[in-house]
Amino acid sequence: MRIGVLASQGAFAEHIALLHQLESEALPVRLAKELDNLDGLIVPGGESTSIGKLMADYNLTSEIKRLAKGGLPIFGTCAGMILMARGSSDSDTRLLKLMDIKVRRNAFGRQKDSFEVELEVPVLGEKLFPGVFIRAPVIEQANNGVEILARLTGGTIVAARQGKLLVSSFHPELTRDSRFHQYFLDIISGSR
Ligand code: GLN
Repeated sequence: MRIGVLASQGAFAEHIALLHQLESEALPVRLAKELDNLDGLIVPGGESTSIGKLMADYNLTSEIKRLAKGGLPIFGTCAGMILMARGSSDSDTRLLKLMDIKVRRNAFGRQKDSFEVELEVPVLGEKLFPGVFIRAPVIEQANNGVEILARLTGGTIVAARQGKLLVSSFHPELTRDSRFHQYFLDIISGSR
């Protein structure tokens, strides 16, 4: 499988390394032509405002939207999740508007900017998943057709799926647990 990892800004190298561990081909994507012939795309964490601007400047936004409409599986983590949302609390960010969710940026305030928590993610099995949250967004609203994959204690939604689109508030690429990436590969192959 050939997975592109958007490499405009942010934590793309970690995604590439984790995909290599899963013996998947993984390529950085900076230019529109590098989106050709991909089986899946990852939009990484970083700064959503910067990534959104760079995607627009490099003509990636419209091409990614076109490919998503054609059924390309896409996985967005943290800032990547913000970019995939239909709506955000911050109107400055240029969104791809792929998924029927509304997100709130930097949802955890200053003192809890970053934290780690063990998450129940039923689709990954019983073992808890290490959730690494870094100035993370949350999903405030998920409409029909969106499957909720994980919540914090208290109910806040932090991972979801809609068809072949997958998002997480947290950073699975910064852990040694490859189950989230494997789940994405399974969505691509059609086994999940
Ligand atoms: N706070 C960042 C934003 O709003 C996201 C942080 C991250 O991707 N780790 O874009």
